[in-house]
Amino acid sequence: MSINQSGWRPTTPTKGNDAAPTFTGNKALMLEEALIFKIGDATTTGVDFTGFGAPTAADDKLSGLARTAPIGLPGLSEPETVRHYTRLSRQNYAIDLGLFPLGSCTMKHNPRLNEKMARLPGFSDIHPLAPVDTVQGALEVIHQLAHWLVTLTGMTSVAMSPKAGAHGELCGILAIKAALAKRGEGARKVILVPESAHGTNPATAAFAGFAVEDIPATPDGRIDTAALIARLGPDVAGVMITNPNTCGLFECDLKTISDAVHAAGGYVYCDGANFNAIVGRVRPGDLGVDAMHINLHKTFSTPHGGGGPGSGPVVFSEALTPFAPLPFVEKQGEHFVLIEEETAGEHHADSFGRMVAFHGQMGMFTRALTYILSHGADGLRQVAEDAVLNANYVLRSLEDVLHAPFAGAGPCMHEALFSDSNLADGFSTLDVAKGLIDEGYHPMTVYFPLVVHGAMLVEPTETESKAALDQFIGALRSVAERAKAGDASLKTAPHFAPRSRLDETQAARKPILVWKEPAPIAQAAE
Ligand SMILES: *Cc1c(COP(=O)(O)O)cnc(C)c1O
Repeated sequence: MSINQSGWRPTTPTKGNDAAPTFTGNKALMLEEALIFKIGDATTTGVDFTGFGAPTAADDKLSGLARTAPIGLPGLSEPETVRHYTRLSRQNYAIDLGLFPLGSCTMKHNPRLNEKMARLPGFSDIHPLAPVDTVQGALEVIHQLAHWLVTLTGMTSVAMSPKAGAHGELCGILAIKAALAKRGEGARKVILVPESAHGTNPATAAFAGFAVEDIPATPDGRIDTAALIARLGPDVAGVMITNPNTCGLFECDLKTISDAVHAAGGYVYCDGANFNAIVGRVRPGDLGVDAMHINLHKTFSTPHGGGGPGSGPVVFSEALTPFAPLPFVEKQGEHFVLIEEETAGEHHADSFGRMVAFHGQMGMFTRALTYILSHGADGLRQVAEDAVLNANYVLRSLEDVLHAPFAGAGPCMHEALFSDSNLADGFSTLDVAKGLIDEGYHPMTVYFPLVVHGAMLVEPTETESKAALDQFIGALRSVAERAKAGDASLKTAPHFAPRSRLDETQAARKPILVWKEPAPIAQAAE
């Protein structure tokens, strides 16, 4: 088959997906879509630069590095381009399509009011270098949001600029590093990270130049407090604790741990990405936390995933506040000012510097503040309670069919954790996840956390109704029962997705990142 002039060619139905092959490969509204390299060609373009409006020749500023041959990218006309990406987008899953049970990621509904506010020109069209007198409203939004975050967490200050959770972790650890240096204790090089922490925690500590040491988990999925306290000493800079942890459990001993870490001269970093489970119920400041990032894009609903931006403000205790990064917004009289530089003698003279060029994610600030104001303090508390209620409903509705390793330890927080231990021989978590795709759901988080074999982590969030939960539970129950009964068809699922099961090991180990025109069939045969 060769590409004809208009770029169309019949598609060969994918193996395992040819229950009702059609001439086009389409199945009614499920349209087959080939790679852009197959449908486009280098001679077509949606842009016409010749004649009127063509760019005039400019001086070559590329020092001989200018491309000398055509770039060879496939071109499409405008309607072809629009259709290509629209068709691909219809093969995607989204929170606006259905329940998105991805544990740890908190894919909650993003109220449309957030979008309306974020699109107000006074927030969406401003420039980071605009004179502060012209953007007082935007600075007030940042200031007001900062006030809510400090109040909700019971902490002293907040750095708004970190751009995501992991970036916030780095911010907190750099503040700890600066505080230790100021005390002349830069020799403290060890950060203790429990097994139940999120994977970004040890990565952050290592990236910031610390040695990471694991602290084991107890059989009930929490930190082994005795082991952690036994390890404290003059070489320990601090601990990084995810709370609620990645098993969906609250770390009940956090206050005891903080007191011991402080007594031993260290600092407590808390990974607060899961703050959505406790907002309005628990103030991390009361538990002795020194620094904690909050994922605005999880707790306060702002959309993420699929390329949406994040925002990871970091709240600080009194001890770490002097080392917080710049810039920050301060209210002086009726005026909002942006503090951008360390000034000797000022309270921010010891700031460790900057995390980013500008001030953070304005669009996410606006969405998060809209969410906070529209819920109010009581509404935020209910958000956490409903998220926990929904997760426990999932846990208790499925624990008779899927093994729930910590179900005996009492209620879970915002996510329900299952293992693969009672599936039939030869059946795995992957088979359950793939079966769920055929049922029209994005799979839950799988094989994480690592402390549980074949983990399946389900986070329904508070925005799902009981009817939506019941339907999801029914689907997962049905797939789990098939995996327990050894239903062989599950081994090749998904059967109804645009593509059937891929060789994931091969895809991870030997990814094919560059498309090459396949050799014509005659030539390949020779
Ligand atoms: C999501 C998450 C992170 C990382 O946040 P990003 O915004 O993806 O960088 C860290 N820790 C926990 C517990 C999380 O759930």
